[in-house]
Amino acid sequence: MFRNLAAAIAATALAVSVADAQTYPTKPITLLVPFAAGGPTDTVARALSVSMGKALGQTIVVENAPGAGGTIAPVKLKAAAPDGYTLMLGHVGMSTAPSLYRALPFKPIEDFEHIGQVVDVPMTLIARQTLEPRDVRELVPYIKANKDKVTLANAGVGSASHLCGLLFMSAIQTDVTTVPYKGTAPAINDLLGGQVDVLCDQTTQTTSYIKSGRIKAYAVTSKTRVESLKELPTASEAGLPGFEVTVWHGVYAPKGTPKPVIDKLVAALQEALKDPTVKQRFNDLGTDPIALDKATPAALQAHLKAEIDKWGPIYKKAGVYAD
Ligand code: ASP
Repeated sequence: MFRNLAAAIAATALAVSVADAQTYPTKPITLLVPFAAGGPTDTVARALSVSMGKALGQTIVVENAPGAGGTIAPVKLKAAAPDGYTLMLGHVGMSTAPSLYRALPFKPIEDFEHIGQVVDVPMTLIARQTLEPRDVRELVPYIKANKDKVTLANAGVGSASHLCGLLFMSAIQTDVTTVPYKGTAPAINDLLGGQVDVLCDQTTQTTSYIKSGRIKAYAVTSKTRVESLKELPTASEAGLPGFEVTVWHGVYAPKGTPKPVIDKLVAALQEALKDPTVKQRFNDLGTDPIALDKATPAALQAHLKAEIDKWGPIYKKAGVYAD
């Protein structure tokens, strides 16, 4: 009797969840962002949330959960109900965190549903307006000569700017003092104020400051020049061959989110990536939406795995840990 009752309750719960999945979404959705408001990841999230929300017929509310190099938001996502009402926009940090944090409280592959990739964003090597070197050829000897006083900001250990900073220091074979923040927005504030010297960060936030001349820009870290910042050389052209890094983004949901809900989210993501307003916004920020065949669960999962395999040995060799 008890077993029958338990089975009946389970069957009812299942029926309810299937019905919920079919009518999804019936209330606003939260999109977690692992970094501070006003930063590059936040900028991508806001463009995406408006368009995905339109496709889903619901509002998507961006919630910033910054800190610990971007590892707080995934912990929140892991603990959220798997009902499609809590999602996260993560970046390359999802693939570097496993090798940086010895006791990482989540597994990027196993603990989440992967919705799809969103956009690949180049980075820019920038500095406070008053830093003397005019180009990379002057910057490198300047940093070497002043390595005890030059400061390199980042958005936290495990952030993309942390990764870019490590690659930069390795390219010039010089270590300087790094200054971590909870995102690029506060890091740029201090760069504008002249409290820190150098930063490597995504075009999704740095473009407007570079164009207005409020910060100094030395190079883009992409293979080719960026359309919206045509005058900026690539790092290779500027004299740092091989210094290349791109920040990829993906949308995640809690493990166990029903398949019909995932399907709706993938469709909405694909709609957003075709949206001319989103395309224009991304173009203005130095990037393009990802090809639609990459905006799928399988493509994000495969890319995440490849990136974990790529960055793991590099961090291990460098002996860099966050804890
Ligand atoms: N751009 C930051 C990073 O370096 C994060 C952010 O503020 O969006 O990861």
